[in-house]
Amino acid sequence: MIKAITGTKDILPPEMPKWKILESIVNDVFTGFNYKEIRTPIFEETSLFARGIGEETDIVGKEMYTFIDRSQTSLTLKPEMTASVVRAFNEHSLGKQQPLNKLFYISPMFRQERPQAGRQRQFHQFGGEAIGSASPLLDAELIIIAYDILKLLGLKDLTVKINSLGIPASRENYKKLLKDYLKDSKHLLSEDSRKRFDQNILRVFDSKVESDQEILKNSPLMIDYIDDESKNDFGVVKTILTNSKIPFEVDAKLVRGLDYYTKTTFEIVSGKVGSQSALCGGGRYDLLVEQLGGAPTPGVGFAAGMERILLACENENSLNLPKEEIDLYIIKLDKELSSKVFELSLSFRKNNLIVDFDYLDRSVKAQMREANKLNSRFVLFIGGDEYKSEKLNLKNMSTGEQQLIELNDYHRVIEIIKK
Ligand code: AMP
Repeated sequence: MIKAITGTKDILPPEMPKWKILESIVNDVFTGFNYKEIRTPIFEETSLFARGIGEETDIVGKEMYTFIDRSQTSLTLKPEMTASVVRAFNEHSLGKQQPLNKLFYISPMFRQERPQAGRQRQFHQFGGEAIGSASPLLDAELIIIAYDILKLLGLKDLTVKINSLGIPASRENYKKLLKDYLKDSKHLLSEDSRKRFDQNILRVFDSKVESDQEILKNSPLMIDYIDDESKNDFGVVKTILTNSKIPFEVDAKLVRGLDYYTKTTFEIVSGKVGSQSALCGGGRYDLLVEQLGGAPTPGVGFAAGMERILLACENENSLNLPKEEIDLYIIKLDKELSSKVFELSLSFRKNNLIVDFDYLDRSVKAQMREANKLNSRFVLFIGGDEYKSEKLNLKNMSTGEQQLIELNDYHRVIEIIKK
């Protein structure tokens, strides 16, 4: 038997209701803030991600699904959305149509990571990008959107972490300080952190190794060295979050894995999903649009992992899933009535009722069992003597009440069910 690829998952019908709830909340909240949905292709030229996300990042360095197609082009399944959105923004000159573009998306993403709870190789993200303004109001707005969505899902155990990485010039100075601080103990760092020391020193902070964190304990912190503009913007973000009653903490060691961030970065973590606790992450990327060939344009965005969010919902038992039911199940007493039943079902379905019947010529008893299994609110019996006198028998399954209805008066059935 052929099975799904490691790290990918089928989402089977019983799981769909929670996905639908999540998607509709995402849609409603973003629409309320006037963000417009964008969809981009599943694959892009590999160079987009290499240039956009950064060669030295984990994503580009070791996680991308990259392949050569039949015309010898190197393609990559998208590992994240910001680079694609910015590519589309540049390609279609969206900045010329309006100065500020507020966009959101829901899409599968692909990364070849080690699968574990909350970590897959094909997973789904929703996210938002506001491209065209350097205003810290948008940084705060996106944090509020992410937080609102998680709250509407009923999640409680949430922490918003924020930090500022400053502009590149201040970051370069800070990197030198950090290098100076770490260089004498470099040999004591884990192998991964030693590599990061050489390639992307800020990411040493991401190390999960305790002895690395011990070494970092008294390190200089970037937040103390950022430029005045970044400091000011960060202050605005903090004030808005405070006024909006969003509980947050400044985490001076939050560096995030992607190279394109500038100024504000943030993450929302849940205490209820184990080691993969980050539900969403984002920040400002004021240089990315230009880096990818567009006019200098500031931007800010975030992405949230949908599998992880649903895992948190499950662990907090936070979702109120509606009971799955249908409006009507039609039971035929004689097999010969199949086409009549089909015809009737079409009339009901045209009137927006959820209707089903037996396609397998099963016994009346089996049809009744099926109606119960489907939580049908009503059952319509067709056949027998009643049918000979051109009548149908409608049963209300919660009260047990039955009534006879003229065969050609099926509108009466609709009326009763919709009442
Ligand atoms: P990132 O794009 O790396 O900033 O990730 C944003 C969010 O996407 C994370 O906080 C996770 O919730 C989710 N995420 C990232 N990678 C994975 C993965 N391999 N499997 C499931 N969710 C993921």
